Amino acid sequence: MADKKPLSGYRKDKGVLWISSYVGNARVKMDYKIKALLHYEQSPFQEISIVDTKGFGKMLVLDGTPQVSTGEGFIYNEMISHIPIVTHPNPKKVAMIGGGDCGPAREAMKYKGIEQIDVVELDPRVTELCRKWLTPNSYYENDQRFTMIHRDGYEWIQEQKGKYDVLMIDRPDPVGQAKKLFSSDFYKSVYDGITDDGVVVFQSGSPYYNVSTLKGTVKNLSKLFPIVKTYLATIPLFPCGLWSFTIASKKWDPLEANINKLQHQDTQYISPEIFTSSFVLPKYVEKIVEASSE
Ligand code: SAM
Repeated sequence: MADKKPLSGYRKDKGVLWISSYVGNARVKMDYKIKALLHYEQSPFQEISIVDTKGFGKMLVLDGTPQVSTGEGFIYNEMISHIPIVTHPNPKKVAMIGGGDCGPAREAMKYKGIEQIDVVELDPRVTELCRKWLTPNSYYENDQRFTMIHRDGYEWIQEQKGKYDVLMIDRPDPVGQAKKLFSSDFYKSVYDGITDDGVVVFQSGSPYYNVSTLKGTVKNLSKLFPIVKTYLATIPLFPCGLWSFTIASKKWDPLEANINKLQHQDTQYISPEIFTSSFVLPKYVEKIVEASSE
């Protein structure tokens, strides 16, 4: 390690390696104890590391921020994918921007009616390292519906017109390359990229300490879509735990969806009851959402 630059977020204390995720807005630091640093490198886009931990299993860490873990990644992956997929009555073409370990794509594969699953990921090294350490190629190679596209999602979406029934925007925090995934023209390109009855979901940050992200997401989407709804999930990996997603739809209301479709799915977090209850917002979150949709 001596010939490489120090890793963001990591520190050694009495021989034990830790990674710290600092949330400036909340003045909160969450420390994760590392069992083994399996790999790290600086790609042309970001610093990528893969670690093993006792608490969360293996984790993908980008620029010092844990993104997903094998221990609890099912929660985030199920909540960003099943809700828009079930909201649309008959989705055939599905895409996601921000591939990472491709967890939402694996959830989409559980729906037989889906014919095309496109994953747009900026950084090919993220895909390669996730295949090596987290989820092997064998999960994808037998599913002809799955295509990996190594492109900038901001540019890619501008070439898609009325194409996708369901889009999932699994964007990182609004820094660096990802900033443009929060701009108003990006929301418009997403609107144009889906079908006339298409559905899209965005991860919209912590409703406690990323309030401006949640507000901006709801505000931008409300200018374009007749139906915009925020829902919540608890993600143990993320500091403070509570996380928001915002779904926008041209025609289908998630609260009128056929949630029985979830009854037979092989899931660990989402159920018909979780689908419905995740849209019940605490009053302080409801206030943020309502004020942003006016
Ligand atoms: N939930 C994911 C998982 O299961 O791994 C984590 C996805 S992570 C929040 C976001 C991903 O988006 C990263 O892999 C990053 O390389 C990618 N990304 C960042 N900017 C992007 C862009 N402009 N277009 C496409 N992908 C981008």
